[in-house]
Amino acid sequence: MAVGSVTGSEASGGGSGRDGRWDRWLTARVQVRQSSVRGDRPQCPVDGRHRVHGHGAYRRYRSARDHQKERVRRWLCVACAKTISVLPDVMLPYRLVGVCLLEEWLDAVHRGHDPPRVTEVERGCLERATARFVQRTPSLATILGQMVRTIRPTAQALWSSLHKLRRLGEILRLLAEKFNTSLLGAYRCLKPWPATG
Ligand SMILES: [Zn+2]
Repeated sequence: MAVGSVTGSEASGGGSGRDGRWDRWLTARVQVRQSSVRGDRPQCPVDGRHRVHGHGAYRRYRSARDHQKERVRRWLCVACAKTISVLPDVMLPYRLVGVCLLEEWLDAVHRGHDPPRVTEVERGCLERATARFVQRTPSLATILGQMVRTIRPTAQALWSSLHKLRRLGEILRLLAEKFNTSLLGAYRCLKPWPATG
């Protein structure tokens, strides 16, 4: 597994469900951020009236710095037979970079702030994340529209205008809740499954 990427459990939705055979019937999964959850459990993204039950958890590293895995809870919509995992707000989807560290790093790269102290492994993760942010800049500018005043902004202009308005955690929540996407990728797990019936 490449350092700094998350494969296996997060990519597949995890294998620690209570019933492996049942898991094979689950064909789509979504991921929501903890700060998007109102109350004690997430809602079904297709129909808020569906019943949602606890469905185990998987474990992943919070960041390249941490040696302990953190639990990511999963929930099951019984009507849709699909799972919803709830990502702690300190984590980015699929990246072993903590949200606060990435925020400090992007501030250093794009706004001239002092860079945070990082390990070599973290530096690699952060540099890849920064390159990905540059690639994603045109899509993010289109998605965020009026929040970004400049037409076709550079990555620097985009980060500056976004971060003047919001902290990175809030930006991630906004992107996930309103646009079903994330800062560094338009992951399939952020899009609701199609309604059936
Ligand atoms: Zn449902």
